[in-house]
Amino acid sequence: MPIRLLTDEVAAKIAAGEVIERPASVVKELIENAIDAGATLIHVEVRKGGRRLMRVADDGCGIPAAEVELAFARHATSKLQTIDDLTHITTLGFRGEALASVAAVSRVTLLTRTDGEEVGTRLRVEGSRVGRHEQCGYPRGTTVSVENLFYNVPARLKFLRRDTTERKHIDRLVTRYAMAYPHLRFSLENDDRLTFHSPGNGSLSDVLIEVYGLATAQAMMEIGDPREEGTDHIRVSGYVSQPDTHRANREHITLFVNGRWVHDRGLTFAVEQAYRALLPVRRHPLAVLQIAVPAEEVDVNVHPTKSEVKFQNRDAVFRAVQRNVRAALIAQSPIPEVRYLAAQWSGAGWQERRHALVGAGATQAAMNLVRPVEREPSQSWFPEVPSKAQGNLPPLRVLGQLAQTYIIAEGPEGMYLIDQHAAHERVIYEKLLAQRASASVSVQTLLEPLTVELTPAQAEELETWLGPLCKLGFEVEPFGGNTALVRSVPAVLARVDVRRTLTGVLDELSAGEEPLAEEMDARLAAAACKRGAAKAGQTLSMEEMQALITRLERATSPRTCPHGRPTIILLSQAWMEREFGRR
Ligand code: ADP
Ligand code: MG
Repeated sequence: MPIRLLTDEVAAKIAAGEVIERPASVVKELIENAIDAGATLIHVEVRKGGRRLMRVADDGCGIPAAEVELAFARHATSKLQTIDDLTHITTLGFRGEALASVAAVSRVTLLTRTDGEEVGTRLRVEGSRVGRHEQCGYPRGTTVSVENLFYNVPARLKFLRRDTTERKHIDRLVTRYAMAYPHLRFSLENDDRLTFHSPGNGSLSDVLIEVYGLATAQAMMEIGDPREEGTDHIRVSGYVSQPDTHRANREHITLFVNGRWVHDRGLTFAVEQAYRALLPVRRHPLAVLQIAVPAEEVDVNVHPTKSEVKFQNRDAVFRAVQRNVRAALIAQSPIPEVRYLAAQWSGAGWQERRHALVGAGATQAAMNLVRPVEREPSQSWFPEVPSKAQGNLPPLRVLGQLAQTYIIAEGPEGMYLIDQHAAHERVIYEKLLAQRASASVSVQTLLEPLTVELTPAQAEELETWLGPLCKLGFEVEPFGGNTALVRSVPAVLARVDVRRTLTGVLDELSAGEEPLAEEMDARLAAAACKRGAAKAGQTLSMEEMQALITRLERATSPRTCPHGRPTIILLSQAWMEREFGRR
């Protein structure tokens, strides 16, 4: 092909592609414009995950009638004039390409009025073509409606995910800005339903309650902002979770630099570093941090989406974040008690503990640990040839329980430790899926339907999963706002805390990728069983332990929990002999 200049239309669509990746990118640009315009109220309306409509209304300064067309021109901005201005930019926008980009790939309607004007202005722009400019009545502020996103870019349209997924991205975005700007009132309406609003009273912790629910918000600690020489021009504020509150991924580490949400792996890592050794493996904290750095020390012009920044002194920012988070953790978390186990169980110590346990009504099983195994010579605990017929676990005899977490058992090759939670998870998981497969899930109907308050994200997720949840025995229905009504639970989970199970399951589902239809049941069952299984820290009787092991033996895949963790480990006799120097 010979070299040719692209037509304006093609060039505009290509350029738009850098700024507008999906519906949430549009909402982001429009919200940023509203914030830059000094709005105190920002209302976002979304239909069909943004595919059909995204509308952002604000009560900001408005655009003068004479400038509305210009606002849609590429590189047209009121926020910057010279290149030097870039070094001290304090607005979220500055590239002057958002409105142009949005208009290149959708149908836009703008309504606006400034303080000084008598009437408002209405302008339509469709695929970059500016339509008629009309006068209309309108209060001070601006509303931008974006319809039929990507209607003229089939390649992009094809890449859009399900409506619920796109909605989820928009939800996250709106809640993120609400957290960054607690003094602004945000509201979000999804398909005619108000799904989120922030009070706009300036309190970040009030916004956290709306975003994460009361329980999680209460488990967050405020950062104290202790400063240190050399980095005292960097200020870090916000909230981080206590070590016992965590999530399956890093999505809940939210960082703002000078009020701008940034995606920064280095700083995310700094937050995680502060939790070093405090969280279980592969779990991540929640954090909402505002990092204030003098404007001239950050370059915000790194990428068209403006969600990456460059710091003049990266190390200092990294250290400030890590130190502040760590300081909050040390100052405010309950410190876990570390005791030397052997001392506890030996001699006089043990006697004392035994008395205490008996006094507290502990079961025999809790004390079985140090009781010598009385093996009768006539009796063989396992057949000569271990039977692998049923689910390939060796036959096991329970000896006792360790740390209210592990079952100690004897088997053909030595001592086996069974993680009681993982084992129970596996057992109920297989049972639930088997019932599901034969469409015969036994359910436990609650005496009284239970109302469960959900966060907006959880409510979103509930909608996607309503069908599979119901088929699995969770009879749940939306009950107005973000409340759900639970009528029944699967019988295998009859003893669980229904509220925590449901919200936990929805959180976990929202963290993962979208599964294929056939994987939905399995993922849902795994998430539910994880919460429904007997927790570590629960004393089990000998009978309960033996029953659990018998059921585990019958499982199809007894050696791992539904999430792939081992249920059982072997301390082989050969290994013991080596360790004791017998061989
Ligand atoms: P940028 O934000 O980078 O300046 P945009 O394309 O997003 O570029 O917007 C272009 C211009 O339109 C802005 O500089 C601003 O003057 C005006 N504008 C856009 N949205 C609003 C709004 N909601 N309220 C007031 N002015 C707006
Ligand atoms: Mg902008």
